[in-house]
Amino acid sequence: MANKVEKCTACGKRLVDSGFARFPCPSCGRELGRCVSCRQQSNPYTCPKCGFVGP
Ligand SMILES: [Zn+2]
Ligand SMILES: [Zn+2]
Repeated sequence: MANKVEKCTACGKRLVDSGFARFPCPSCGRELGRCVSCRQQSNPYTCPKCGFVGP
């Protein structure tokens, strides 16, 4: 099984609540995670693999 992201890429919070999102990095395709609050606040994240900064 492929590695599943278990923590928010932006804040490091575990993705246990409903409403979080997993999505591929727009740059390298690595799976990233984002918790509900970071989605709502549009907190920036940094891809740990390629350094891409989003949203
Ligand atoms: Zn978060
Ligand atoms: Zn990336």
